[in-house]
Amino acid sequence: MEIRYFDHAATTKVKEEVLEEMLPYLREKYGNPSSMYTMGREARKAVEEARKRVAKLINCKPSEIYFTSCGSESDNMAIKGIAYANFHRGRHIITSKIEHPAVLHTCQELERKGFKVTYLNVDRDGIVDLNELKNAIRNDTILISIMAANNEIGSIQPIHEIAKIARMYNITFHTDGVQACGNILIDVQRMGIDMLSLSGHKIYAPKGIGALYVRNGIPFERLIEGGHQENNRRAGTENVAQIVGLGKACDLARIHFNQHKEHLQEIRNYYISQVEEKIPDVSLNGSREKRLPGNANFSFQKVEGEALLLNLDAKGICASAGSACSTGSSKPSHVLSAIGLSDELAYGALRTTFGEENTKKDIDYLVENLVEIVGRLRKA
Ligand SMILES: *Cc1c(COP(=O)(O)O)cnc(C)c1O
Repeated sequence: MEIRYFDHAATTKVKEEVLEEMLPYLREKYGNPSSMYTMGREARKAVEEARKRVAKLINCKPSEIYFTSCGSESDNMAIKGIAYANFHRGRHIITSKIEHPAVLHTCQELERKGFKVTYLNVDRDGIVDLNELKNAIRNDTILISIMAANNEIGSIQPIHEIAKIARMYNITFHTDGVQACGNILIDVQRMGIDMLSLSGHKIYAPKGIGALYVRNGIPFERLIEGGHQENNRRAGTENVAQIVGLGKACDLARIHFNQHKEHLQEIRNYYISQVEEKIPDVSLNGSREKRLPGNANFSFQKVEGEALLLNLDAKGICASAGSACSTGSSKPSHVLSAIGLSDELAYGALRTTFGEENTKKDIDYLVENLVEIVGRLRKA
């Protein structure tokens, strides 16, 4: 059976060009970038070339990019790194209720270590309120961490405005840009972002590689002790092949940015209009405008999202009932609860996130099957 993949917020397929660039570093070019001889220097050159490419995607200096093992590590490194570096200056952190677990659970861990955390509410569209943010700021606030775009409902935060507020109060601003990078324009200089996390496998590079941007001059403590890699901020022999893959994926994301965004928007809008036309009693979760181009999230009344997923899977369709990270848990998604959905509607949610290989024909197949399955489940 042909597989139709609509779960690009969970992960993406590695692009052929990305894999091609990586392979030599898994085969003959296996030198350690810290070694002095030619093969080591070649590996070093590849790592620094990739650093330039990542920097170019978000418009920062290459020296402001630190490679990590994943988006989750980048989030941990940013939040704990700032928290521990400012321990004697202040212990208050502001974040939102709809962050990825890599941010939420890191903040909860810091609360157990004596830090105080404010979790900002979001409105029906999943957007934070700037006045609530201003009111939450205290003398001892050291960090604001608010995601650029949400992985479940795709809502895009007013990052530029949040950064302005942070700067006004001299507070470091970190954003989880894992879903945003490559999908919406991110310019850390123009937007005033101090730290940003990104991850390879959400942008057609492999799993297990990420990066953290830290504006030069911002003090942070390192998480992983060891050698002097990554300018002494993150120990461990560089994952050369994966770094090369991330660099290539960032390069492709930058070059094809407009085309990619328009393609996603077109098929996503087509999907939304088809569902709203052909299936009664559905509601779109999140904002219609301030939304990632490839994201759609619908609640289907009187349908269990999990039953929907199993039936779609039987037709070769991959989608998500909420966040892949929370499958296996029986609680409704924290994001859907935060935008005010009842438990029943949250359990009836289906997230579809589109990617470059999806076509309108794929959407027709998806909608056709949804009409049939939703109708059948509602009758049962
Ligand atoms: C996927 C994701 C992460 C985690 O990235 P990994 O590389 O899987 O650790 C963090 N934040 C958001 C918003 C994500 O979508």
